[in-house]
Amino acid sequence: MARIHLPTPLRPFADGAASVDVAGSTVADALTELVERFPQLRRHLYDDAGRVRSFVNLYKNDEDVRYLEREGTRLSADDSLSIVPSIAGGGDLSNEEIRRYSRHLIMPEVGVEGQKKLKAARVLAIGAGGLGSPLAVYLAAAGVGTLGLVDNDVVDDSNLQRQIIYGVSDVGRPKLQAAAERLRDMNPNVEVVPYETRLTSENALEIFRDYDVVADGTDNFPTRYLVNDACVLTGKPNVYASIFRFEGQASVFWAQMGPCYRCLYTEPPPPGLVPSCAEGGVLGILPGLLGVIQATETVKLILGNGDPLIGRLLLVDALSMRFRELKLRKNPDCVICGPNPTVTTLVDYEQFCGIPQEEARVATATGRIPEVTVQELKAMRDRGEEFVLVDVREPHEFAICAFPESVKIPLGTLPQNVNRLSTADEIVVHCKMGGRSAKAVKFLQDAGFRKVRNLAGGIDRWAQEIEPSMPRY
Ligand SMILES: [Zn+2]
Repeated sequence: MARIHLPTPLRPFADGAASVDVAGSTVADALTELVERFPQLRRHLYDDAGRVRSFVNLYKNDEDVRYLEREGTRLSADDSLSIVPSIAGGGDLSNEEIRRYSRHLIMPEVGVEGQKKLKAARVLAIGAGGLGSPLAVYLAAAGVGTLGLVDNDVVDDSNLQRQIIYGVSDVGRPKLQAAAERLRDMNPNVEVVPYETRLTSENALEIFRDYDVVADGTDNFPTRYLVNDACVLTGKPNVYASIFRFEGQASVFWAQMGPCYRCLYTEPPPPGLVPSCAEGGVLGILPGLLGVIQATETVKLILGNGDPLIGRLLLVDALSMRFRELKLRKNPDCVICGPNPTVTTLVDYEQFCGIPQEEARVATATGRIPEVTVQELKAMRDRGEEFVLVDVREPHEFAICAFPESVKIPLGTLPQNVNRLSTADEIVVHCKMGGRSAKAVKFLQDAGFRKVRNLAGGIDRWAQEIEPSMPRY
């Protein structure tokens, strides 16, 4: 039995098989047997006249059969036949590129052919942040020919803890300007295409169309569903990762070959239930770990080599340094990649994720909550007024900055600590930005407290407007 190796794009037409064993003793017989077994492959390999398509290259072991006896080339039991569809663009490698990529070229899994595939490949990274930084750096270094980046943020000094593509001199600059400069310096052979815009339902399909692989490095649910749906609708693989504190997830969602993100999570969690990295924090190294996994999966897809994370969800726990894997199945009722999809165009993802409704809910909720401004609080403290200041942040936040006189009760422990407060006292509650303390005020009101108010904007606004020497986080 000779073995036929199928490239990634053809595997969906062969029940996902990467290789197929055939009995045929010539290339022609082997291919005939292959398309008899998987009839859907026929139109990809043969033209209407029954000739092997000109852009399909056939290799017996490592020899191009055009230089042997073409389709009459004999195959014996331990031979392999590789089908290598040509990819537009790319071209030969220059001497400079050969030197630069020499450690790739001497690996049988990459070689000159693989390096040319990387050069011809077009990868789109959504987000140039924590995940996008290592992803873009490694893909550029590896020689991916065209690297699209979508982001419209500006470098902030709180980014430098994890977004390793930027330096202190980039703070305040548009991220894509700084990232493109860094990547071009690293590898001038790479064409960096910046899209300095927010990815939206209006522009996603048009941007995605030009790329072979999309890597999702976003940090919010609306964009994550948008990336998924646009990938399903344009048939692109979506190399996914997400991170939170010490934990990460990664997978490759590709509807033609396996499940999509919606097969896994049909609907987003209610707004506010899953904290973002900005609220909950993230170990700066973690996006490096996950971004490099994304880069590895991207390169494997381009090379058509290895076993991609399709149908598998990789769970990374950096604190225990354990990697686990869950099997993902394609949901037969998936609203977008199932046989009877109800989602056939891009929708309003902000609304889908409940964001406008949530803002409205918070607005009406806080409308009923009495507030003090930071200026009023300053006046109350300066006058030496009698009141109790309650800080409902977490202990590690108290350690960064706090009012010395405050009673410190983290929000989650308020119910069991409510007896530390008296309904007779004037109370001002604060947190970092005012959201958690609004919930605390509501809780205390329901518990019978009448003289309780929320500090609008929290300690962060205090640091901005009253006490500039206080650290902000
Ligand atoms: Zn799906």
